[in-house]
Amino acid sequence: MSNSSLVDYTDITSHKTSPRMDKIRKITIHHMAGNLSVEECGEVFHNRDASTNYGIGNDGRIGLYVDECDRAWATTDPDNDHQAINIELANDEIGGNWHVSDKVINRCIDLCVDICKRNGIEKLNFTGDESGNLTMHCYFMATACPGSYLKTKFKYIADKVNERLGSTPIPKPNGDMWAGAYPSLPERGYYLTGDGYNTYVGYQNDIKLIQQYLNWAIDAKLEVDGYYGNATTNAVESFQRKVGLTADGSYGKDTLSAAKKYKKNSASKKYSGALPTKDLVPGSVGLQVKDLQNFLNWYGNYGLEIDGSYGKLTTSAVKNFQTSEKILVDGMFGIQSRTTAKKYT
Ligand SMILES: [Zn+2]
Repeated sequence: MSNSSLVDYTDITSHKTSPRMDKIRKITIHHMAGNLSVEECGEVFHNRDASTNYGIGNDGRIGLYVDECDRAWATTDPDNDHQAINIELANDEIGGNWHVSDKVINRCIDLCVDICKRNGIEKLNFTGDESGNLTMHCYFMATACPGSYLKTKFKYIADKVNERLGSTPIPKPNGDMWAGAYPSLPERGYYLTGDGYNTYVGYQNDIKLIQQYLNWAIDAKLEVDGYYGNATTNAVESFQRKVGLTADGSYGKDTLSAAKKYKKNSASKKYSGALPTKDLVPGSVGLQVKDLQNFLNWYGNYGLEIDGSYGKLTTSAVKNFQTSEKILVDGMFGIQSRTTAKKYT
């Protein structure tokens, strides 16, 4: 069991139970009820019969007070604390809503992602009570902790952490219409290399949305890399031709509005790309996995990155495909899934 490499300051307290008696499965977030630095927070745990694993000070630095292998004296609930990493956040408002700054909350999200990755926690499930694995102090005793402001941020924190852990919910197949997001447009739209936007960092995610869309709409088989190069330009031209626009390969207001109206004709739903020819399972890599990802994006708008790596999102998409096709749902793309996919070619 390790500690986070994000730690800026260490001041280990003797106020703890060593070692913890359960596996790390949860995170509990508290507020300090004070505007403290990591040094001041550490002092408190030497003087009081209480502790936390980590604290995030008012400047966003992270303090370590109880090693992850030990149980902090944080919520008074042994069942929670033996399973939880406890984190205390500094307030920037004393009393009132006990506000916590964005800087501290963002650092908390970084720390939670790191804790989840190192401890094999796949997802933070915020349920609003102690049955989830993201918990509040007030679930276990009568306390104002974590304060009314921070209470409203738990779902946001869980969503952001899960996004970065790759457990974002994926769109379900919904027939003819694109179920994913649409890009935001810069004033002049998107143009081929040399015209500025292809490498403009602020729009890379928008260009990825365009690429995912084209993979779904016209089976474009683009690499979802956020780069508006020749391949993307050509695919935009094909799409424009299909919807009766001038095929200039630049993506502006007209193309966006056509994209929003575009329906795939599911009656003649035929897949023209390659399908995998061998069994693929979570962990598989290579060209056949790219074929699978292209097929899944065509099938169900999943917006998978065509990276040739059969990870969590590809597994979820396969399960979704299997559920829709009423075949065995095991997340593995074997003979039954291949035969079913072939019906679409
Ligand atoms: Zn607390």
